[in-house]
Amino acid sequence: MATKHRGVTALDRMRSRLERVDMECSACGYEDDGGRWRSTTDGSRVHYSHICPRCGRVRKRTYTL
Ligand SMILES: [Zn+2]
Repeated sequence: MATKHRGVTALDRMRSRLERVDMECSACGYEDDGGRWRSTTDGSRVHYSHICPRCGRVRKRTYTL
C-alpha cells in the first residue's frame, strides 16, 4: 500500500469509523446509510461535517491530530 500521504490515510480511517458508527441524524433520527462525512483539516485539527439529506441538519465533529 502506498503511504505517501500518511495524514490522509489517518483522516480516511477516522472518517470510515464515523461512517460506520455515526450516520444517524441527531435532529430527525434519519439513518443515512449511503452518506458521507466530509473532512477538512487545518494541519493540527480535522473537521468533519455531515448534512442530513432529510432535514438538512449539519452535524460536526472535530478531532485533534
Ligand atoms: Zn435529519
